[in-house]
Amino acid sequence: MSEQEAYGHKDSRMLLQDTMQPGGPAVDPAAWLREADIVSHDFPYAAELIAESFSEWHEGLKDLPFAEAWEWCILDYEGKWISTKGGDQERWSPYWNEAAYSSLLSGDIAAVRSSMDGMELNLFTIPVFTRKGREIFALLGCVMPAEVYDQGGRFTAEAMAQHYRTCFYRRFEHVFVSDLAGVHLHAERESTRRSLLFQIVQRMHDNIDVDAVLSEVIDSISAMYPGAELRLFMSQDHRSTHSKVKPLSHLWTSDDVRAKAFKDGKVTLSVGGADCSTVEIGLPLGGKQGVYGVFHMVLNDPEFPDVDLRFLSMVADTAGTAFENAKLYERSNQLIRELRMSNELTQRLNQSLRLGDIFRFAFEELLEMFGADYCCIMHMNEEKGGLEVIACNHAPLLNEIMPAGQGLGGRVYSTGEPVIISDYLDNPEASSRLMDATGSESLIATPLSVGGEVRGAIMLAHRDAHYFSYDNYKLLQAMAGHIGLAVGNARLHAEVRRLANRDSLTGLYARHYLDEVIKDRQGTDFCGSLIVVDIDQFKLVNDTYGHQKGDKILKQVSEIVKSSIRQGDIAARWGGEELAVYLPQLGAQQSMFVAERIRKRVMDETEPRVTVSCGIAEWSWTDERVSVESLFYRADMALYEAKNQGRNRVVIDSKKFESSMKNPWA
Ligand code: GH3
Ligand code: MG
Ligand code: MG
Repeated sequence: MSEQEAYGHKDSRMLLQDTMQPGGPAVDPAAWLREADIVSHDFPYAAELIAESFSEWHEGLKDLPFAEAWEWCILDYEGKWISTKGGDQERWSPYWNEAAYSSLLSGDIAAVRSSMDGMELNLFTIPVFTRKGREIFALLGCVMPAEVYDQGGRFTAEAMAQHYRTCFYRRFEHVFVSDLAGVHLHAERESTRRSLLFQIVQRMHDNIDVDAVLSEVIDSISAMYPGAELRLFMSQDHRSTHSKVKPLSHLWTSDDVRAKAFKDGKVTLSVGGADCSTVEIGLPLGGKQGVYGVFHMVLNDPEFPDVDLRFLSMVADTAGTAFENAKLYERSNQLIRELRMSNELTQRLNQSLRLGDIFRFAFEELLEMFGADYCCIMHMNEEKGGLEVIACNHAPLLNEIMPAGQGLGGRVYSTGEPVIISDYLDNPEASSRLMDATGSESLIATPLSVGGEVRGAIMLAHRDAHYFSYDNYKLLQAMAGHIGLAVGNARLHAEVRRLANRDSLTGLYARHYLDEVIKDRQGTDFCGSLIVVDIDQFKLVNDTYGHQKGDKILKQVSEIVKSSIRQGDIAARWGGEELAVYLPQLGAQQSMFVAERIRKRVMDETEPRVTVSCGIAEWSWTDERVSVESLFYRADMALYEAKNQGRNRVVIDSKKFESSMKNPWA
């Protein structure tokens, strides 16, 4: 039992605390001290204080040579030996018992006589009384020559016993006063903490920025425990500039203080180190909606006080709430920003119905929206047999064809699943040309769906690891939805345009489209020819086989025409059973071969067999009158000539031919 816990200090503690508590009973410690005393209940615990005060008292005897020569000892309230000065306990033990017994019985000084080395000695015990209850709490023992005792030594000893009592009470009061000071110190620390906590709370709630809240709490705790090693482990993909903020590890074992605190959402403490000299504390950073992280403190103070723990837990709670508020604020700001950006993107996408424009707009907006280093948009091109890179700010990849299923983009396309990679180098199974070529570490990618069908992939990359957040990843998917819609619209528009320019029966271009093309080309090219193809005796065919069969033959002839011409040539349905082919940059003589090919193939391949007659006209930039109408007219004239000559033949417009023969410079 320690000194502090004895001497009715339960009462004194209560008193001391009462005096410190605001609103507690008003008690004057000095008045209490005047009345305070050691009582029989305390006697069993008083030995230490008695021994200490005895030593202190004996120290004071140095100035009294006569008294120092005497042997002194101190016994407890039951006469049991406690301590000796200037002699040894063994020697006088039986005498002390005897004297003490008498003193305790009589409540007075009791002496025993004995001779030692031819000298008569007096051993006696003097009772020491409590000051209020007048109970014997100790006996002061003394050995002196009998002669001295008789000559007044006894009274001197009694006076010295009085002095001992004073020494005892002096120490007793000292203990009380140091307790008082301790409580004062404690109260002062508590009040500093309270005001600190108040300041922290205020500052944290003043901050609506997530990072600022975290910095505030880290700095506050660090300032209070300068010796402590402090880290904050965050569970979410929270990027912080603070050097003490680290990502939560999945490698922690379940008995790790941090893992425990995070999992249970409670303050967790563990004492460790080689000689149990360090204490580790895990403080969860949590709010109403969950635990976001955990503070981890390592201190070289295994006896970390409970008060501190309560205080830290309050700070962590406050930080959790402030963090959550800031997070919500940030989230709502983020949502507003995303809405605005999404609005801008869709507005821009809607400005054009051209596929090329849409991909370009999307590419530019995405780069800016996500602050990405690289953007790559891939679109399926069946003709080229893979995903075509149609927009990319890493030039070597532009227009490349990537096989579906290969690389990250190919995988996103073929699985239809979005991908997020925070640390490309740590992802050996993922392989991407974009990431390798640009030295990027972070990636978010999403499939590009058009009308419910995956048509491509969008990839955003950044050179820093852990650059994109989960919110970014989700946002990209939402944006890909808008882009997919715009692409769908553009494709629909293109299809409508294509349909408007086509003849529905033959699939060839419509006449008005052919007109436009020729007009355009006459503005830019040097020359071109037109072949007009007319089925011979088609009226008869219809009459013989019926109109439906006639339609089929018309389609057969159209297919033959389509497959007999070059890619840039335009085949159109000119009207009824007449077809026309415009051959840019080709003269009539060269077009003759094409027309002949068509004529022969029609004769050989149609079923039932039909023949065609063709009329050819050409134009060149040297002509006096270059117009679509005159070209058609002359081709028609040539066709008329072919019919006249007996059908199933090709005739070149002779007027032009003749006129050019007449006037070679025309
Ligand atoms: P030719 O050109 O050799 O002088 O004789 P033709 O019988 O082909 O000439 P004509 O201009 O007198 O008749 C054209 C016929 O083509 C009339 C029409 O019934 C038929 N025809 C026109 N358009 C279509 C069509 O879309 N489908 C079918 N089945 N027949 C058509
Ligand atoms: Mg005909
Ligand atoms: Mg005709």
